[in-house]
Amino acid sequence: MSARIIDGKAIAAEFRAEFAIRVERLKRRGVVPGLAVVIVGADPASQIYVRNKALASGAIGMHSEVHALAADTTEAHLIAFVKRLNANDAIHGILVQLPLPRHIESRAVIEAIAPEKDVDGFHYFNVGSLFMGEPAFYPCTPFGVMKMLEHESIPVEGAHAVVVGRSTIVGKPMALLLLNAGATVTICHSKTRDLAAMTRQADILVAAVGRARLITAPMVKPGAVVIDVGINRLADGKLAGDVDFGPVSEAAGRITPVPGGVGPMTIAMLLGNTVKSAERAAGLGSRAETRIA
Ligand code: NDP
Repeated sequence: MSARIIDGKAIAAEFRAEFAIRVERLKRRGVVPGLAVVIVGADPASQIYVRNKALASGAIGMHSEVHALAADTTEAHLIAFVKRLNANDAIHGILVQLPLPRHIESRAVIEAIAPEKDVDGFHYFNVGSLFMGEPAFYPCTPFGVMKMLEHESIPVEGAHAVVVGRSTIVGKPMALLLLNAGATVTICHSKTRDLAAMTRQADILVAAVGRARLITAPMVKPGAVVIDVGINRLADGKLAGDVDFGPVSEAAGRITPVPGGVGPMTIAMLLGNTVKSAERAAGLGSRAETRIA
């Protein structure tokens, strides 16, 4: 069997087109959705992510601003900076790029973001809402995976979903979103005894580990939906996911590529969350009106 590719790039483009329309609607009411991205220090990977987020925001007509702060910025200064963004009516979404330098406690900074502007979904209020199964800003990567499954009409309710990885950014929120959508969920991690025995049970397998080609073909149930969140840089400079793409795509029913799978969806969801925040601030956009609910 040869798996159908889930084209995250194309799906993300559809979402961005929808968001661009919603941005126009807001602009007609005099509101320009604004995203502020704060980066501390000069981590090269973070700089690329931040630039991509700003470019994507501009491409759908949003206002975006990047605040690059020096590596020796104090925690108190950063928190004060975030609080000024909270009070700025032109800003509807605030993202503090992680990781932060070691002398800054990330949690304290995330908690300083107003929950209604926490478009990354990491504030305890939003994490708690996800736990409760209530509407909130959900972390962009797992939320993007859910939107991909929905777009592809892949049934989640009743499916056995296996998530490999339990980070707070991807694995845990992914498992909760799948659980809230009615899946039976197994979460695997580095201490899982027989990973293959778990993954072989998956109707939907999500790999979010950060180890190139960890998931091999014998670990995948024939016909399963395989979502590869991993981004790994190989020795030759190429990118690879956590899934051994060639052989696994012979076994799976559907599969996401790396690059061009989950990555573009992550950025799209960040834009969607910011548009939603601006709609809320403008008194628009009930959940019934918008696909990003
Ligand atoms: P973390 O390093 O925070 O978490 C990795 C998880 O994988 C941990 O829970 C760890 O278990 C588990 N793990 C490690 N080794 C194994 C193993 N051999 N078997 C089973 N589980 C294992 O990573 P993130 O969650 O932040 O990111 C995961 C991957 O997703 C990375 O490649 C990252 O680059 C990528 N990513 C992609 C995004 C996108 O937009 N496409 C966005 C965010 C991340 P334990 O908890 O026991 O240590």
